[in-house]
Amino acid sequence: MAKHDNPALTAFLAELPAQREFAQVVITRRDDAFELRHVADVAAAEAALEVVEVEALRGLANHTDAGAFRPLKSAPNLRTGWRAVAHTAEELERSLDHLYPGALTDWYSARQAQPPVTHYRDYVNRQTGMYRITQMLTDEQVRDLARAGCHRDSCLKQRLWGGPELAADEAAEKSVIPCLEPCAVLSEFARKSMRLEQEEKAAVRVSSGDLETLLAAVNLALTQPMSGSREADFGAAENPRRLRRLKIQVERWLAEVPQKADKE
Ligand code: SF4
Repeated sequence: MAKHDNPALTAFLAELPAQREFAQVVITRRDDAFELRHVADVAAAEAALEVVEVEALRGLANHTDAGAFRPLKSAPNLRTGWRAVAHTAEELERSLDHLYPGALTDWYSARQAQPPVTHYRDYVNRQTGMYRITQMLTDEQVRDLARAGCHRDSCLKQRLWGGPELAADEAAEKSVIPCLEPCAVLSEFARKSMRLEQEEKAAVRVSSGDLETLLAAVNLALTQPMSGSREADFGAAENPRRLRRLKIQVERWLAEVPQKADKE
């Protein structure tokens, strides 16, 4: 087995089959080279795909097909319609690092006997300044935060960090790229979530039927996101993570009200 300066690369190559998925990328062995393309393009003819140089992959990963900036490179919105060829193992390493920064190192770290995972409380207890507020979320709110913020529709990393009654993600639900501690986007969402918790609350009485309508509206908004909305703009009420957070709350309220069938 060839050894490389990076032990993570050596380990990755040792078990790299003829073809494997790495989040939204398919890596295919081609003689001494490796071809990378989007999973959605796995069956596309080579001629139908734009050839992208290895060093251009970092730029490619910066924007979605629609041209929106991608603040989180593990979001499931990598551009389609391209292929790149890495001619050496080191080029493959750089390709993956451009598309998913740090992923290979984290993948290797997560395989160690004691992966360097930083759980939510340990992470936020280190925070200073405007992020200290994230320490105030209760354990239940942290669970909601992870369910809404790390959902596979927003991020393909397998979350290994957790908290009380917050188990790690399954790799099959997301990808083999581990998440070892809360990221900057999640931290910002945690800050906004705490701010929302601190706002004045309206005392409203809502029937279960109206809650069902609200839930349907949230689900519709999640499946048909507004064009131009930015992934990490948590000031926007239509932000997908905020919508998911509301959805969790509405589902909880619905479970608490007597069911219509009891009265009919
Ligand atoms: S904290 Fe959540 S959203 Fe951020 S990288 Fe990890 S799994 Fe993804």
